[in-house]
Amino acid sequence: MATPKEIRNELLAAKIIKGLEKRHMEGYFCKTGDEVIKKAEELISEGSSVTWGGSTTIRDIGLTKALIDGNYNVFDRDTCKDPEKLQQGMRDAFSMDWFLSSSNAITEDGIMVNVDGLGNRVAAITFGPKNVLFVVGLNKVTQDVESAVKRARSTAAPINVQRFDVKTPCHADGTCHDCTVDDCICSCIHILRNSKVPNRIKVILVEDELGY
Ligand code: SF4
Repeated sequence: MATPKEIRNELLAAKIIKGLEKRHMEGYFCKTGDEVIKKAEELISEGSSVTWGGSTTIRDIGLTKALIDGNYNVFDRDTCKDPEKLQQGMRDAFSMDWFLSSSNAITEDGIMVNVDGLGNRVAAITFGPKNVLFVVGLNKVTQDVESAVKRARSTAAPINVQRFDVKTPCHADGTCHDCTVDDCICSCIHILRNSKVPNRIKVILVEDELGY
């Protein structure tokens, strides 16, 4: 029998998926990382070119490894050590079949908010790759855009920044100072509220707590 939390999560996911559909995006709900991998492999045809933005979610659930090990043409930015090749890979992302990402926050009616330092991730989400696949844990759901922006800036970014050796105020004390320092990872704040190209954006919601 489903627990109260599971019942609520099913209802919440159904509401978000309805919101996504209204915004010309596709939504799916998976319980676990393994289910996400299965769904992603259903969506992404073998032979497709695939890359991703920096995301712990898609790596932690094993999705990036499954695609690297599978029959896909992958550019793995996470293992690219050559700065020139990395820059080229980010540019090449615009002409690839699939771009994968998580989202820093998603509202109950399907609006996604992301912050980005360089801007390559939000640029590829906006335009270029034929398809964009988001994998988003329900822990990132917020009531409205205002709380989504707050979550992205005061929760996601100060945690994400701890993965890097950067000099930002949030790295020192864990809170956002609305900085403009060289290492700032929040140069761009992106709100995705509609897809002009129908169904270009696919979102897999996940019941498991994923990412930051
Ligand atoms: S302090 Fe700067 S880098 Fe850190 S969360 Fe705020 S704007 Fe982003």
